Amino acid sequence: MLTFEHQFATLPEPLWVACQPTPVAQPSLIAFNDALAAQLGMQTRPDDARLAQWFSGNQLPPGAEPKALGYAGHQFGNFVPQLGDGRALLLGEVVDQQGLRRDIQLKGSGRTPFSRGGDGRSPLGPVLREYLVSEFMAAVGVPTTRALAAVATGERVVRQMAEPGAVLTRVASSHIRVGTFQFAAVRRDESALKALTDHVITRHYPEAANADDPYLALLEAVTARQAALVARWMSLGFIHGVMNTDNCSIAGETIDYGPCAFMEQFDPQKVYSSIDQGRRYAFNNQPGIAQWNLARFAETLLPLMREEGDAVVEQATEVLRGFTIRFSAEQRRLHANKLGLAPESDHAAPLMEALEIQMHQGRMDMTATFDALTHYAQALRKNSSAHSQKEALLALTTQPDGLTAWLAEWENAQQASQQSERLEAMRHANPVVIPRNHRIQEVIDAAVEGDFAPFHTLLAAVTQPFDESEEARRLAAPAMESEQVLRTFCGT
Ligand code: AMP
Ligand code: MG
Repeated sequence: MLTFEHQFATLPEPLWVACQPTPVAQPSLIAFNDALAAQLGMQTRPDDARLAQWFSGNQLPPGAEPKALGYAGHQFGNFVPQLGDGRALLLGEVVDQQGLRRDIQLKGSGRTPFSRGGDGRSPLGPVLREYLVSEFMAAVGVPTTRALAAVATGERVVRQMAEPGAVLTRVASSHIRVGTFQFAAVRRDESALKALTDHVITRHYPEAANADDPYLALLEAVTARQAALVARWMSLGFIHGVMNTDNCSIAGETIDYGPCAFMEQFDPQKVYSSIDQGRRYAFNNQPGIAQWNLARFAETLLPLMREEGDAVVEQATEVLRGFTIRFSAEQRRLHANKLGLAPESDHAAPLMEALEIQMHQGRMDMTATFDALTHYAQALRKNSSAHSQKEALLALTTQPDGLTAWLAEWENAQQASQQSERLEAMRHANPVVIPRNHRIQEVIDAAVEGDFAPFHTLLAAVTQPFDESEEARRLAAPAMESEQVLRTFCGT
C-alpha cells in the first residue's frame, strides 16, 4: 500500500485545484514497475485488476487526494500565463524507503480546470515512449521522473487519427517547475510565491536555508542541478525537444518525454521534433536554453532576495553565469569517462572535439561509436582481438582515414590511463542499448494492434543498458536507412 501525504496542499489554492479523474471504459494493466513500487514502500502487489483500477483513476488508491497543479510557462519563447495540469493529477506524495518525498501523478486521467481546449487524455504511444525513455534514463543514472504504471483505458482518443488511450503513473521528486514560479509571479501573488519558494527549499534544497540569502542560494543550487543534467543528456546524445520553462524541473530531473529522441548520426544541430520549426531546442542549443530558462526562474525570485535594485540583479546574473562553468566542468568529466581517460586529463576536451567532427563528417552513429570505442579499449588492455575491434570501429565511418588518425592520438592519451577502473567508468559512460527511435516506433505500432510483447522486450533491454547479450545487441543496432525515424511528435 502507498501511504499518501499532501504537503503540496498546504500551499495556497491558486497553486492547485482539487479535481477528480474521469473514469475510463475498460482499464487494463500494461505494465507495473515492481522495483519502483517496492522503493515507494508497497510491500504487497495488488492483483492486476486492482492496479488497473487505481492507476487509471477509476477507483483511486486509498489516501489519494487528486489535484491539478497550476503553472505558467514560456513555450518556444512565448509566455503563457496559465498552462497547468490539463491532463494530469497529483494523487499525493509518498515518502520512499530512503526518506525522499516523491510525487505520484496520473497523466491522461481526464479534463481539469486547466484543460483549456484539450481532452485531458493521452494516447497510448506517448505513454509507452515516456515509460521506456524515463526508465532507461533511471537505469543509466540520469536524474529523471519515473514510470510506475501504464494502463490502457479501453477508449480511443482522437488526434490525427483515433488511437487507443492510456494513463501513465509518473513518479517525480516533485512536479514543481520554473513555470510554477512564473505562475505565482505573474499573478503578483507574493505570499503564494514565498510559500512555494520556502516549500521548495525545505523539500529539495534544505542546505540553502542556512545561506546568507536563501533565495539566492536556491537559484545557485537549481542552476547547478540543471547544468549537471543537461551535460548528462548530451553525453548520451539526448535531445529533449521541448525545453519550455514549464518542462524545466526545479528538482533538476528530466521531465516530459514528449518529442524527445536520442541522436543517432552525430550532428550538433540535430532536431527531431516536428513542432520545433525554429530549431530552438537543437542538440547543441540545450545548455543555452537551460540557462535562459534559469534566467526566467531568477526573475521570479528577485522580489524575495535580500538585496535590491541593481545589486540584486547583478548577484543573480553572476549566479546565472556560473551555469557555463558548472556545465563545462561536468561535461569535461563525462567526456573523460566516455573516452576512458582520467577525469583530470587535458586531452579529453580536444579529443572529444575532434571525435565529434569525425562522427559528424563520417556520419557515425554516436552510441555505436562509443560502444565500439569501449570494446577497442578493453581489447587493447587485454592485448587480444584489438585489430578486429578497431576494424569494427572503422566500419562505422564513411571517412576511415580521419578516424584512424584520431585513434592514434586517442591511443597515446589512453595508454597513460589504462587502469581497470577507467575501463569500468568508460563502460558505464557508454551504454550498449539506448531506446532508439525506430525501436520505440516499432513497439508503439505493435501495441496499437494489441501486441505488448515488443514493449516488454525493449523495456527489459533498455533497463539493462550495459548488457551485451545477443538480444541486447540486436536491439542496440542503429536503424537501417529504411527504418530511420526522422521526426518525432508531441502526440498530446
Ligand atoms: P506538454 O506539451 O505535455 O508539456 O503540455 C503543455 C500544456 O498543455 C500543459 O498545460 C498540459 O497540461 C496541456 N495539455 C497537453 N495535452 C493536453 C490534453 N490532451 N488535454 C488537456 N491539456 C493538455
Ligand atoms: Mg509539460
